[in-house]
Amino acid sequence: MKELSIVIPLYNEEESLSELKAWIDRVLKGRSYEVIFVDDGSRDGSWAEVQRLAEADAERVVGIRMARNYGKSAGLQMGFQAATGRVVITMDADLQDSPEEIAELERKILEDGYDLVSGWKKKRHDPLSKTIPTRLYNAATRWVSGIELHDFNCGLKAYRLEVVKAIEVQGEMHRYIPILAKSVGFDRIGEQVVQHQARKYGSSKFGLERFINGFLDLMTIGFMSRFSRKPMHFFGALGVMMFLVSLAGFSWIALGKLISIWEGNPTRNITEISAFYVSLTGMVFGLQFFLTGFLAEMTSRNDTKRHDYQVAEHIKKQ
Ligand code: UDP
Ligand code: MG
Repeated sequence: MKELSIVIPLYNEEESLSELKAWIDRVLKGRSYEVIFVDDGSRDGSWAEVQRLAEADAERVVGIRMARNYGKSAGLQMGFQAATGRVVITMDADLQDSPEEIAELERKILEDGYDLVSGWKKKRHDPLSKTIPTRLYNAATRWVSGIELHDFNCGLKAYRLEVVKAIEVQGEMHRYIPILAKSVGFDRIGEQVVQHQARKYGSSKFGLERFINGFLDLMTIGFMSRFSRKPMHFFGALGVMMFLVSLAGFSWIALGKLISIWEGNPTRNITEISAFYVSLTGMVFGLQFFLTGFLAEMTSRNDTKRHDYQVAEHIKKQ
């Protein structure tokens, strides 16, 4: 078993790779480690570069080439599956993250007992158009997840091996790995201020759409981590609420009518009362929520992973 696995997802980063590998080798001299390059369908010479690095250092380099560009999450997932080191480090391939940080990240996992330590690019070298939305996004993520991190999406992170084997990074969920880890019980999550360099070669692979997609994913993950095993508790609660409000509306209308009749006043048609339409709409929506809840329950009951719980310890009899 190696001491460290360095997982590096990359997409069109040919200029950076050999420099990065040399830097890692320099920093980790004398240690036992592997470097896992996951080429996420690059269209430049990145794969040739990975092959060259693997030839030069067959003992340490693992190369995985995806058949097409699936996205950074897929790259990380493949890297996690291949990783064998006691501590797993992820870093971007673009030389923005510094391998010098690895030692301290590893120490925090091994000695301070963290499951996951996330880098925090306190001083960023990115354009303002990126840093300001990033602050908002991090605040929203803290609020949804209850995890006190400043920089959820930092590419530089360290994990205990069990953590990367337990989580599944799908879609574009690489932005929320700490939440994924917490949802399977690894909640000792720490943070470390790291140096951040400006991009030296190539260009960023994510544009402004990252914030819209990131926000949608945050809603999904907030919902999934709480209700994926009991969706009816979410939809049913909404349905009941709508139903009760509507029922109150109808009762109010009926009561008004009865009082009018009792007092011998002329009564209005219910279609002339605005509360009628509000209540009617509420009923229809409430029913929709219920039906959605039932459908969601049926789907989640068929989930092949429905019994995949993360067991922390298990004492067996002799
Ligand atoms: N990346 C990837 N697949 C993609 C997009 C990006 O593997 O579809 C890699 C990229 O090569 C880099 C890391 O993910 O190693 C972070 O990407 P980038 O530097 O473009 O993001 P930024 O630093 O702008 O947030
Ligand atoms: Mg970058």
